[in-house]
Amino acid sequence: MKRLSPNEKWNRFNKKLEELMKSNDFYGLGVIYQEMANFLNNEGKDSKEMLNKAHEMKLTHHRNYIKNLRYDSPICVGVEVRCTDDSCRSCKSLQGKVFDFDKAIETNPLPVRNCSHEYGCRCVYLPVAN
Ligand SMILES: [Zn+2]
Repeated sequence: MKRLSPNEKWNRFNKKLEELMKSNDFYGLGVIYQEMANFLNNEGKDSKEMLNKAHEMKLTHHRNYIKNLRYDSPICVGVEVRCTDDSCRSCKSLQGKVFDFDKAIETNPLPVRNCSHEYGCRCVYLPVAN
């Protein structure tokens, strides 16, 4: 396969963003912005704006998840944080923590802002039933 030039890569990221925006895939958008931030980092450029966008998109994803769960499920009272095996220490410190809906919406435990993993925070919420 032909190696893509930096410009081609960047264009591909933007095309991907367009598709994800059409389908309201906020988590996917967060992942692509994170990849764009990593890309800029490798080029020695400022990645702060992309990192902020990555965080913002994942935050929207998690908040939507909580709102939908609260709306859809009469037996759920909150969410529990689940991280991955290779999550960073900040993320792992949240593993298994339970938040009622109000608290989760108020404090936004996810995504973990100071996550140090190269793909950013990949923690998820699980529903907690009464
Ligand atoms: Zn992390």
